[in-house]
Amino acid sequence: MHFALPEDLQQFQQLARTFAQEYVAPRARKWDADKWIDDELFVKAGELGLLGVYVPEEYGGCGQGLLAMAIITEELARHCGATALAITAHNGLGCGHIKLAGSKEQHQRWLPKLAKGPELAAWCLTEPHCGSDAAALTTRAEKKNGGWVLNGQKLFITSARRAAVLVVMARTKPEGGKDGISAFVVEKGTPGLILGEPEDKLGCRGSDTVPV
Ligand SMILES: Cc1cc2nc3c(=O)[nH]c(=O)nc-3n(C[C@H](O)[C@H](O)[C@H](O)COP(=O)(O)OP(=O)(O)OC[C@H]3O[C@@H](n4cnc5c(N)ncnc54)[C@H](O)[C@@H]3O)c2cc1C
Repeated sequence: MHFALPEDLQQFQQLARTFAQEYVAPRARKWDADKWIDDELFVKAGELGLLGVYVPEEYGGCGQGLLAMAIITEELARHCGATALAITAHNGLGCGHIKLAGSKEQHQRWLPKLAKGPELAAWCLTEPHCGSDAAALTTRAEKKNGGWVLNGQKLFITSARRAAVLVVMARTKPEGGKDGISAFVVEKGTPGLILGEPEDKLGCRGSDTVPV
């Protein structure tokens, strides 16, 4: 069996490795102490294509898949778990969900911006009473005046404080378990969107983990 990576992924691996060694590693300790990764990391990551891994090339991304994401995560996590967490959550959760299930209008509006950075996409599923059991979530979404009003609380949301958009899972039908849940793109600055104090974690402290 042949396990070697294809050439384009080897190049991706080398790019992520060099970035992690030369830029991330010397700064990781400071970011951990500050409990905040400098914005510049996300500017540079955007320039290198690390914020648009799943984003199609027509929207300014790399059009890559899960294997590329795993390779990048491995290279970043070797030097800084917080950087790996922030970049992986942005690509795989927030940005990935918009790419997977968003409308064409949402793709055009958000994917080019998110692939460029430095603002990220956060993803809000977990609630104070449910994590693994996601179908038990109680955040509600109600149609009002031609739009939607969301009410509820989310917990442990990665990069909520540096997100341009938050993808929020909410219940559109009181019944129906997982089938009554939809995802909404909520913009930073939306009235009523309140971000709490970041968790004081034991590790990965540069990545903010926030109640919403
Ligand atoms: C650093 C960090 C970042 C995070 N970022 C995000 C984010 O960006 N967005 C977001 O929505 N959430 C985020 N989370 C939340 C994370 O997804 C949840 O913590 C996770 O889903 C587990 O949920 P829980 O904490 O409620 O634990 P629980 O669901 O209560 O699980 C506790 C333990 O019980 C086990 N368990 C649960 N159910 C079963 C079962 N049926 N059978 C056997 N074992 C079971 C679990 O494996 C676990 O060991 C983050 C969490 C952390 C720590």
